[in-house]
Amino acid sequence: MVAKKRGNQAKKASPGKKPAKTRKKSASKVPSRPVKQIRKVREMKKYLKEVRSRRRKVVLVPTMGYLHEGHLSLVREARRLGSVVVVSLFVNPVQFGPNEDLDRYPRDIRRDLRKLRREGVDVVFCPDAAEMYPERYQTYVDVTEVTRDYCGASRPSHFRGVATVVTKLFTIIQPDVAIFGEKDFQQLVVIRRMAQDLALDVLVVGMPTVREEDGLAMSSRNAYLSPAQRQQATTIYRGLRKAKQLLDSGERDAAELAAIAVDLLREEHDLVIDYVAVCDPETLERIPEVEKEAVLLVAVKVGDTRLIDNIRLEVKGARGRR
Ligand code: AMP
Repeated sequence: MVAKKRGNQAKKASPGKKPAKTRKKSASKVPSRPVKQIRKVREMKKYLKEVRSRRRKVVLVPTMGYLHEGHLSLVREARRLGSVVVVSLFVNPVQFGPNEDLDRYPRDIRRDLRKLRREGVDVVFCPDAAEMYPERYQTYVDVTEVTRDYCGASRPSHFRGVATVVTKLFTIIQPDVAIFGEKDFQQLVVIRRMAQDLALDVLVVGMPTVREEDGLAMSSRNAYLSPAQRQQATTIYRGLRKAKQLLDSGERDAAELAAIAVDLLREEHDLVIDYVAVCDPETLERIPEVEKEAVLLVAVKVGDTRLIDNIRLEVKGARGRR
C-alpha cells in the first residue's frame, strides 16, 4: 500500500521526465564517483601525500592506455588489494625504438577514462612526455642481464625505457603494490629484478594473461591486425599449447618443445618468428631441459606488427623450482 502511494507521488512529482525505470538503469551503469585525472607530477605527489596521511594503501597499475580486458584484470586485482587505485596512462616514448610504432600507437583517453570509471578507479595519472622527460632530462635505469636476450635483443633500448619510466612512476607515486601482466613476461622479470636490486619498497604482483576467445593474448597492438593477420595470429597460442601438451606427454627436451611451436608458426606465411625460447622463469636463462618449471617465450611479427606471448611449462608432480 505504501509502495503504491510512493509510486503515484513519484509520477506526479516528475511530469514530462523520463520514466523512473529508465533513469534507474542508466544510473546503475555509471558509478557516481568520477575518476580524478592528474597530469602534473607535482599535483600527483600532493594528492598522494594526503592519501598516505590517512594511511591508505596505494596500488599502481602502469599502462600505455587503449585499455582492454587484460588491463582491466590488473585494475580489478588492484581494487581487491588496495584502498586507493592509481592507473597511469602514458605512452612512454623512451621505450620505443626509432623505427617503431610510437606515432601510430593507438590512443583513446576518453574511452579509457570511461572504462576506468566503471571499475571504480580513484585516480588516473596521465602526464605528457614533457612532464615526464622535461628539457635536459638525462637519467636512465639499466637492468643488465635479464634484458640482454629476447625482446631486449630485438629492441635494444626498450627495457631501458621501461625501467626508467617505471622507476619514475614508483618515485612519484610510491605505491605499496604495483601490478603487471605476465603477458609481457620479460618485462615483469625486469621490474622484479629492478625492485629488488634498488631495494624499492613496492610489492610487484604479476597477473595471468587474458586472452580472446580464440586464445590470442589481448594486446593494444592487436588493433593493427587485418582480419587475415588476426586469424594467423591465433597460431601463436596454438603453438604454445602444443609445446605444453608435448611436455605433458613426457617430453623434457627444450629444443623439442620449442621446435613443435616453431613448426606450427612456420605454417603461416605472414608470420615471421623473432624468437621461440624455453627459459628459467626467474633468471630467463635458456635451459636445455625442463626439470620442474620453465617458461616458453615467443615473439613474432605479423606484417609490421610485433606480438609476444608465453606459456608456463610445469612438470606435473615435480615440486619446487628446477
Ligand atoms: P601496456 O599498456 O601494453 O604497456 O600494458 C600495461 C600492463 O598491462 C602491463 O603490465 C601488461 O603486461 C599488462 N597486459 C597487457 N596485455 C595483457 C593481457 N592480455 N593480460 C594481462 N595483462 C596484460
